[in-house]
Amino acid sequence: MSVLEIRELVAGVAGREILHGIDLSVEAGTVHAVMGPNGSGKSTLAHVLMGRPGYTVLGGSATLDGVDLLELAPWERSRAGLFLGMQDPIEVPGVSAMAMLAASTARHATAGDLGAILDAEATRVGYDVSLLSRSLNLGLSGGERKRNEMVQLAALRPRIAVLDEVDSGLDVDALRSVSARVEAATEEWGLGVLAITHWSRLLDVLRADVVHVMADGRIVANGGPELASELEETGYAAYAQHAGT
Ligand code: ADP
Ligand code: MG
Repeated sequence: MSVLEIRELVAGVAGREILHGIDLSVEAGTVHAVMGPNGSGKSTLAHVLMGRPGYTVLGGSATLDGVDLLELAPWERSRAGLFLGMQDPIEVPGVSAMAMLAASTARHATAGDLGAILDAEATRVGYDVSLLSRSLNLGLSGGERKRNEMVQLAALRPRIAVLDEVDSGLDVDALRSVSARVEAATEEWGLGVLAITHWSRLLDVLRADVVHVMADGRIVANGGPELASELEETGYAAYAQHAGT
């Protein structure tokens, strides 16, 4: 059974320490939510896990099934089974989702398979299949970018998906179809999910097994889904104080 294990992870960007020691384990088939106020370090965690240039690891470890992710280039992390759904998926002029996925899935799908998979997956999340052969994300709306990422997720079949604010820019219908796709993946191939979000409304549609609260670069609370409901009532103020400096 796959597991992403993050231990005492300390990391920063631009010479500033942002994450002050993060401990988290995400097991196959489960959904872990990381919630926290803006600026608490959620996206930093996502970027550090995927190896975005400019982010520096200062201590601790992150492994996927025992493989040290922090030693690997981003593409190697992807090949090891890690997927990142970005908060703001970037535009890649000249490279289509189709071309990118053909290269990345070459090991487990033929071109024919891939076409069929993409058709089925696009339909499943209400994404216009013709957009898959145009430049990646170029001129697309926030909702289209997130649906596009779900198609990528389904084609790549990662072991662990880190989804950074997958709810941002989505209307209610898109939010439901994206959440349904993620939830189905936990059963279809045992996807483990680290769902990062500011808003508890995501957890109204995506069932989390475990909820973690992040404040000031630390995990300050762990609990079940009830923690998200509690946050809806109280906001993050109590936890920000809890975290101290
Ligand atoms: P969240 O996703 O929880 O809103 P972020 O991880 O984006 O938080 O940001 C955490 C902190 O790191 C913020 O104080 C932010 O200003 C800072 N930060 C993020 N990116 C950079 C950067 N490239 N250079 C300097 N500081 C940054
Ligand atoms: Mg963020």
